[in-house]
Amino acid sequence: MKEPYKHFETISIRTQAERSQNREHSVPLYLTSSFVFDDAEQARALFADEIPGNIYSRFSNPNTQELIDKMCLLEHTEDGIATATGMAAVFSSMAALLKSGDHIVASRSVFGSTHQLFTKIFPAWGIHTTYVGLGNPGEWKEAIRPNTKMFYLETPSNPGLELGDLEAICEMARQLHIIVNVDNCFATPYLQTPADFGADLVVHSATKFLDGQGRVLGGLVLGKKELIQQVRYFTRHTGPSMSPFNAWVISKSLETLAVRMDRHCENALFIYERLKNHQKINKILYPGSPGHPQYAIALRQMKKGGAMIAFDLKGGYESGKKFLNCLQWISHTANLGDSRTIATHPASTTHSKLTEEERQAVGIMPGLIRISCGLEHKEDILEDILQALNRI
Ligand SMILES: *Cc1c(COP(=O)(O)O)cnc(C)c1O
Repeated sequence: MKEPYKHFETISIRTQAERSQNREHSVPLYLTSSFVFDDAEQARALFADEIPGNIYSRFSNPNTQELIDKMCLLEHTEDGIATATGMAAVFSSMAALLKSGDHIVASRSVFGSTHQLFTKIFPAWGIHTTYVGLGNPGEWKEAIRPNTKMFYLETPSNPGLELGDLEAICEMARQLHIIVNVDNCFATPYLQTPADFGADLVVHSATKFLDGQGRVLGGLVLGKKELIQQVRYFTRHTGPSMSPFNAWVISKSLETLAVRMDRHCENALFIYERLKNHQKINKILYPGSPGHPQYAIALRQMKKGGAMIAFDLKGGYESGKKFLNCLQWISHTANLGDSRTIATHPASTTHSKLTEEERQAVGIMPGLIRISCGLEHKEDILEDILQALNRI
């Protein structure tokens, strides 16, 4: 059905499950594991996929479907499935489509658990990955083998905030029928829609900006119908499904995604501008500023720069740890995409298991601090960062 509206804000608010006979305005929570059949013939037809309808919440539920429908409209994709976590989405998007002997080319800077999939879990199943530089399309081309089935990337990358040229990477893949799978967690569909550049699959950790308030875990795989059909078969029969409760929470959160992202970006740009010439900072990166080395790519594929800022402290590793200890109220926690501002020191935490060379290759300097700018007042966020910088 063609919706009578087209803008992101309206879609994210007005896409909702069909009203029940109770005439509720806000969509209720369908906390039920199964659904009752009208008669034996209807049950048969449902199981035969001859008619649409709910059977069992592992693979169909009104709340989960509402979230999927909404995300498909926002990401400009044909179909989707929802999973219990972002990692379940990342894993299912690959496990459903790849088999032993297949090869993946992936950007070197990926989420920590995705890195474990590529380096430990998939190799044991005969699926091997070659890492390449996100920002270097030539390296992607060189890494392609006859058995390469998938390109996998995150842009902007975590925590180095490097960008991948979606158009160039998708064009290269299209010629060779390689599936392009993009983790769009950092940008969200409000800032970037990889499908418009030719991505076949888009994966999300809904735990981050989509919920945006640090409450629930969730994930989504969105993309071309024929690929999602295979992913749906896989998740239906292996069970990493999203709970209806989490789908209800995340779908409600999407109603405010546009206003939240606008404010996240406004705060991040403000913090970047105020810190860019700070004497204790070597280098600061924000994709939304002309000072970013790949700003031209950001302008082509992102609406704004996002909520994430990364800066390298002059004193290195010890300064990084000290900075976190000196913060008065900004959270020190292993998350991002929250209404609360969060600071992390990747070298001593999330990326401490990498060797120094591996960290360098993905742009993690010993004194690198990653800030996920929240929705508090920008002057308050700046003040806490400045007082901590003063004390290191
Ligand atoms: C957090 C995150 C994930 C994993 O999501 P979970 O919901 O924690 O499983 C995947 N990719 C990126 C970029 C993330 O930030």
